[in-house]
Amino acid sequence: MALIVQKYGGTSVGSIGHIEHVAEKVATTRNQGHKVVVVVSAMSGETNRLMGMANEIQGQIAHGRELDVLLSTGEQVTIALLAMALQRRECAAVSSTGAQLDIRTDNKFNKARIKSIDAVRLKRSLDAGYVVVVAGFQGIDSEGNITTLGRGGSDTTAVALAAAVKADECQIYTDVDGVYTTDPRVEPNARRLARITFEEMLEMASLGSKVLQIRAVEFAGKYDVPIRVLSTFAEGPGTLITFEEDSMEDPLVSGIAFNRDEAQLTVKGVPDQPGVAAHILGPIADENIEVDMIVQNVGSDGTTDFTFTVHRNDYTKGMKVIDNTLKNIGGGQVGGDPNIVKLSLVGVGMRSHAGIASRMFTALAQEKINIRMISTSEIKISVVIEEKYLELGVRVLHEAFELDQEIGVEDTQ
Ligand code: ASP
Ligand code: MG
Repeated sequence: MALIVQKYGGTSVGSIGHIEHVAEKVATTRNQGHKVVVVVSAMSGETNRLMGMANEIQGQIAHGRELDVLLSTGEQVTIALLAMALQRRECAAVSSTGAQLDIRTDNKFNKARIKSIDAVRLKRSLDAGYVVVVAGFQGIDSEGNITTLGRGGSDTTAVALAAAVKADECQIYTDVDGVYTTDPRVEPNARRLARITFEEMLEMASLGSKVLQIRAVEFAGKYDVPIRVLSTFAEGPGTLITFEEDSMEDPLVSGIAFNRDEAQLTVKGVPDQPGVAAHILGPIADENIEVDMIVQNVGSDGTTDFTFTVHRNDYTKGMKVIDNTLKNIGGGQVGGDPNIVKLSLVGVGMRSHAGIASRMFTALAQEKINIRMISTSEIKISVVIEEKYLELGVRVLHEAFELDQEIGVEDTQ
């Protein structure tokens, strides 16, 4: 007998028919003798619909306390319907909102963080034989206000509950059957990974893979909660996200992540003297523009160049900020390119192997793809290239590192 937390996303509970299907799956798990906690999202499109109404009334991107009161209702609808569907299958079930389970958060409305969970209450219901159906994405602060955890926050609810009750596994059911070597829409030969480490998943998630909320992966790594990503609609073992093990035959590269939403800003001819980087990047940070990669060239003639990348939405604003700064410095020119992308190889196997970078650069060079910037970490190599080469770049690297080929032994459920 195991204690399992299952989370079903919006598309998995998108209609009454889908909710019935989820109830069938949950009841089956329960009937196998397991204790089950189910976390659900709002029915697909519902959170957007609620947001839309709030935006109309507030006349801007809605925010604040009342938005959380509103958004939390989406998940409340799903828990009640799923609990009913389970009861009709003679599977004892009880629904619970975040507040009812005392999922305590800080008071940052719309992006609250979970601080504690009343696991005693949850365990009591499980011991009494109930499937507990919990509303994802929400909690309550110390003053009793309803809070929400940010878009995609149901993943974090599920992982936090799994950590609190020390679940054997946290299963994330979604509309894809696992984590892939890269986006299959770009590379049809992309392959489902049997396992991936927390660290790799974190890189993949922060680089744009949308399978899991980043915060959920961080949480799982910190509290050692094994996560399995599975399809609601197809049978299969999915992808297990877990710790690195010695026995794991780590491939050099596990996946290729990419981010289309990048833009490049270049500052030329600024004085090559101490403090100049801070002078240029300080005002950028003051405007809440997040800077990703930064490169400074070796100076010559007493001047130097900088290039850095920002989110594409911040391109124009960033340009203006630098323009102002340069006026104050009294020199230099700003330029840029909003049509660049970042492409990254991710893999814990890189740690112990040299030569990955050169293999990557050679593969790109053979296709005449020019690399504009490079950055590396222990388990990642990223390059900035022109946007028009994104698809080609992904496919070339996928082939160069033989990611379409199965290695190791399939881990079955
Ligand atoms: N319903 C929320 C959203 O759409 C939370 C979630 O589904 O994880 O972002
Ligand atoms: Mg989601």
